[in-house]
Amino acid sequence: MQGNMMDVPLTLPFILERARTQFAGREIVSLLPGGRDAAGQPVPDRHHTTYGEVADRALRLGAGLQALGLKPGDRVATLAVNSFRHLEAYLGIPSAGFVVHTVNIRLHPEQLAWILNHAEDRVLLVENLFAGLVPAIRAACPRIEHILVLGPTPEPVEGARDYDTWVMAQEPLRHYPAIDENAAAGMCYTSGTTGNPKGVLYTHRSTILHSLASAPKDALNVGERDTVLPIVPMFHVNAWGLPYTCAMYGAKQVFAGPFSDGPTLARLMQDEQVTITAGVPTIWMGLLAELDRAKAAGHPYDLHCLERLVVGGSAAPESLIRAFQDRHGLSLAHAWGMTETHPLGTASIVPVGVAETSDEGYRLRAKQGRAVPLVQLDILSEEGERLPHDGKTMGRLIARGPWIASSYFKGEGTGNFLTLDGEEWFDTGDIATLDERGFMHIQDRAKDLIKSGGEWISSVDLENALMAHPAVAQAAVIAMDDPKWDERPLAVVTLKPGGQVTHEELRDFLAPRFAKWWLPDATVVVESLPIGATGKFLKRELREQYRDYGSRGETGQS
Ligand code: AMP
Repeated sequence: MQGNMMDVPLTLPFILERARTQFAGREIVSLLPGGRDAAGQPVPDRHHTTYGEVADRALRLGAGLQALGLKPGDRVATLAVNSFRHLEAYLGIPSAGFVVHTVNIRLHPEQLAWILNHAEDRVLLVENLFAGLVPAIRAACPRIEHILVLGPTPEPVEGARDYDTWVMAQEPLRHYPAIDENAAAGMCYTSGTTGNPKGVLYTHRSTILHSLASAPKDALNVGERDTVLPIVPMFHVNAWGLPYTCAMYGAKQVFAGPFSDGPTLARLMQDEQVTITAGVPTIWMGLLAELDRAKAAGHPYDLHCLERLVVGGSAAPESLIRAFQDRHGLSLAHAWGMTETHPLGTASIVPVGVAETSDEGYRLRAKQGRAVPLVQLDILSEEGERLPHDGKTMGRLIARGPWIASSYFKGEGTGNFLTLDGEEWFDTGDIATLDERGFMHIQDRAKDLIKSGGEWISSVDLENALMAHPAVAQAAVIAMDDPKWDERPLAVVTLKPGGQVTHEELRDFLAPRFAKWWLPDATVVVESLPIGATGKFLKRELREQYRDYGSRGETGQS
């Protein structure tokens, strides 16, 4: 027998309408580049608006796109930093029936053009900072019919219109179109570390459900009373969904524009009384250095409002989690996800009975956490069999849920999707363990695993342990070829200012925590590690550079 509840389509106008009517006065703050300081560096200007104004402009944007002749499902690309204008695009484009395609601003221009063409975008919203790219984009992407520049420019940009003037000349959308909840609302490309990037299409339904599931305490802890600063870029998996989650629940949003340095972020958090913030470990390392500096100088920042710093995108070492807690009383909480998972898959909240600051608490906080409601996780062997959840056995992490991709745009990359016992699953490409309570711990990307004598070595575990050494700033552990063992671990590290360390000292430092065969055979000290467009170490580049390091006769050198 069927139940008798309404089948209401879950679509984005629900979020826009809630923000417009219930939270109209709630503030949206954005840092935008202002003038320049004496050293020629951009000085941030602080812009204030409200959900009411953002919603009004989002409705004008939607109506304007309709007037340009866009058809339902057409893609509108954004090449933009985190700001209120980007939020207007997030809300206005899908609510008028189109797809907001957020493009990574750090991509190489050729890759950028490839993505814009592949997505068949018809309109592009481009931040004034990148207006210089307009002629090249016009030449390389003939399908783009209209370009609108976000923010003021010293002079008009040829081949583009000023977004603010254009948007305010439109009448706000009066009626939302009928939208199928499974229609695409957002689009994001994977980082394409293997082959070409692939397009992931979020649906209206997945975005609504993801927003609902992201807010609770045991997920990202967002409510109306919160002030949320997503430092993770809005072009990277919808800034982990936070702009939508905050708009749904009425949280004040603070955007850092193009700024991500420790001092600017610390000041912004203090001034705006930020309660929740989210970013990748490299951002938190920069913030930690600034908080340490200010404290040592006797002028610590007042961050008493800050309840949680969410960390994801790559693993946060336990030492970083401890440093924030011990030195500044701040709680760093892991979350895991990926472009294909919208992204929230897990959140690491210490379970009942374990103290946050006990050794067991820290051990669990260094894991990626438990699946949030409606997400299922499992691990598979190389032969595709389900593996035990014992906290030790490593396997290929697979995920399933209403906001997990079931295919890529244009049907590409079918190898990542599988059917198990009649159910659809997504192969994440991560190698992880799961314990009896469901705590997931990422060990590696499948392609980054080091396979020594047929056994797996987790580079992530070694990196986290290395970064706890007082002299080490950053560490990447990669596989180098080995005639006997096939592959052996090589540590590539950067040092803290004034830090010095030998390979033998690092090995001794790791020895109490790892099996002997896990210990790196060599250490290379470098000035900096290559970092990709989404803030992760480019291990592929390092592997290319050092794959033959073992045969160069330098093994053991540092
Ligand atoms: P992306 O699609 O660019 O967001 O990258 C997703 C990948 O980032 C995942 O498959 C993981 O390998 C990695 N990742 C994301 N969050 C975490 C985390 N909290 N800890 C470790 N790795 C993570």
